[in-house]
Amino acid sequence: MVRASMKLRRPFLTKLAMVAVSLAVFATGGHFIATGAINRQQTRQLEELANIALRRSEVAVDFGVATLDDVMRRGPMNCNSASLQAVRLQVYQRSAVKDIRLVTREGSVICSAYSETLEFDNEWVKRTDMLRTGDRGPMLFRVDQINGVALGVLKDIDDTNSLVAILGVSASLFDILPAELRDHGEVMVRLERGADIGRFAPAAGLDVPDLVAFSATSHRYPLHATVRVAPQALQSWNRDGYWPVMLIAVGLGLVFGLLLTRTVRQLEGPIADIDRGLARREFKPYFQPTFDLRSGEIKGCEVLARWVHADGSITPPMNFIPLAESSGRIEAITWQILGEALKVLRPRMTDDKYFKMSINITPRHLVSEGFVDRLRSEVRDGGVAARQIVLEVTEREAFADLEKAATIVEELREYGFRVAMDDVGVGHSGLSQIKRLGVNTMKIDKFFVDTIAQDGPAATIVEMLVRLAAKLKMTVIAEGIETVEQRQALLACGVEDGQGYLVSPPLPFAKFDDFLIRHAVKLDAEATVRDASRVA
Ligand code: C2E
Ligand code: CA
Ligand code: CA
Repeated sequence: MVRASMKLRRPFLTKLAMVAVSLAVFATGGHFIATGAINRQQTRQLEELANIALRRSEVAVDFGVATLDDVMRRGPMNCNSASLQAVRLQVYQRSAVKDIRLVTREGSVICSAYSETLEFDNEWVKRTDMLRTGDRGPMLFRVDQINGVALGVLKDIDDTNSLVAILGVSASLFDILPAELRDHGEVMVRLERGADIGRFAPAAGLDVPDLVAFSATSHRYPLHATVRVAPQALQSWNRDGYWPVMLIAVGLGLVFGLLLTRTVRQLEGPIADIDRGLARREFKPYFQPTFDLRSGEIKGCEVLARWVHADGSITPPMNFIPLAESSGRIEAITWQILGEALKVLRPRMTDDKYFKMSINITPRHLVSEGFVDRLRSEVRDGGVAARQIVLEVTEREAFADLEKAATIVEELREYGFRVAMDDVGVGHSGLSQIKRLGVNTMKIDKFFVDTIAQDGPAATIVEMLVRLAAKLKMTVIAEGIETVEQRQALLACGVEDGQGYLVSPPLPFAKFDDFLIRHAVKLDAEATVRDASRVA
C-alpha cells in the first residue's frame, strides 16, 4: 500500500512541478515583456513631452518677434509717454510678453514699457553675449530676474537702436508634466550655451540624485528642452497594461504547463501507463464460470484480467498483456489480480471446497525466482486451499528450460495446486511438452471448439486429445463454447468440462456472484421438472 501511494504521489508532484515551472517562466517572461513595453511607452511619452516644451518655447520666440514687428509697424518706439502708453497696451494684450524695451546697439536699456520691471532684473546681458538666430533673425538671451528667468528677444530697428521683448516661458511649462509626475519631475528650456530661460519644478525642489532625462533640440532656434523625472515616480505611472499582460502570461503558463504534462505523459508511453494503472490498482479480475457439460453445474471459474480505468472505460487483456509480458509488468499485474480474486471469492471457496479458481500464469513467471513461495503465501493469506487453485500455463509460448518448468510443476502439485495446459492444440511445442511438464489438465483451445459441430478434422483431433489425456491421467476442459451443438459435439468426443458464452461471458465479481445464485436456482427448477416428469 505504501509503495502504491508513493508511486501515485510522485507523478502528481512531477506534474505539479512542471506546471509551477511553466507558470514561473511565463510570469517572468510576462513581467519583462510588460515592463519593457511600459518603459518604451514611457520613454516615447516623455520624449513627446520634451518636444511639446520645445515647441511652446519656439512659439514664444515667434510670438515675441511678431509682437516686436507689430510695435515697429505702428511707428518707431520712442521714450515719450504716448509711445510707451501704446506699447504698454500691446504688452497688456499679450500675456506671454512681460515687457518691451528700447535698447542701444550694445544692448543697454534706453526705456521700458513698464519701467518698474527693470528693478526686477538681476543682470542684463550685453549684445556680445546674445545668441543670433540665422542671418537676419532675432537675437536671444537670458534675462535673470528676481524669482525666475525670462527670455529676451532682440530685433534691430536701425543701426543705432533695437527693440527687446521680455517673454515668460516658465508659465507655459506648468501643465506639460502629467499631474502624477508634477511633484517628481521638472521641465526646463535652455539656450544653447546652457543658460535656462524657463523652468517648471516642484515648489519643494527635486532632491533625487539620478533623474531620468529626456531632451529635444530645436532646428529653428538655439533652444533645448529637457524633461527630468525621478525613476521611482515612473514605477507607478501609466502601468495600466502591466496586470492584463501578467494575467495573459499566467494563463498561457498554466495552459502550457498542462499541455506539457500531457505531452510528457504521451512521451513516457504505454509502459508508464501500465505502471500508473498498477499504482492505482486498476487491474481487476473478471470471472468466467467453468461448468459440467452434461449437468450444467458450475465447477469453478477462470480469472481474466481487465484494465478498468478511472473514467470507467475498460481495456481488454489482448491490448495490454503482450506489452505487460515483454516489459516485465505481467508479474505485478498477476499478483494484483490474484489478491483481489482471492479476497472476493474466499467466502464461496471456503463454503464449497470443490469450487476451483483458475488463473493465467505466463511460462516465464512460472519459472521465475520465488514464484512458488509467493503463490503459497498469497493463497494461504487469502484463506483458500491450494487444491482449489488451478494455474493455466499457455502452450502458445515454449518453455526455455522445460526441465526446470517440469520441476516447478511437480513442486506445485506436491503443495496441492493444479496446473492446466492452456490453448492446447495451437502451440508449437506439441503434445510431448504437455507430457514432459506433467500437468493435471488439458484446456482445449476455442480454435477446435469453433468447428467441432461441423464436419471436419476438429472432432477427430479433440477425440485424440481426450484419449491421450486419459492415458496421462489428465482431465480435459474445452473453452469458447458458444452453442448447444458445440456442447453436444464435445460430449460426444468425451470432453466433460467446458467454459464459454453459452453459459456466461467473463463478468465483474458482483455480476458473477449474482449469476452463480440465479444459475443454481435455475438448475434446481430444471431438476424438479425432470423429477416430476419421471414420476408421471
Ligand atoms: P485465454 O486464457 O485463452 O482465455 C479465454 C479467452 O476466451 C478469454 O478472453 C475469454 O473471454 C474468451 N472466451 C471465453 N469463452 C468464449 C466464447 O464462448 N466465445 C468467445 N468468442 N470468447 C470466449 P479474454 O478474457 O479476452 O482473454 C484473452 C487472453 O488474454 C486469455 O486467453 C489469456 O491468454 C490472456 N489473459 C487474460 N487474463 C490474463 C491474466 O490475468 N494473465 C495472463 N498472463 N494472461 C491473461
Ligand atoms: Ca486461460
Ligand atoms: Ca485460449
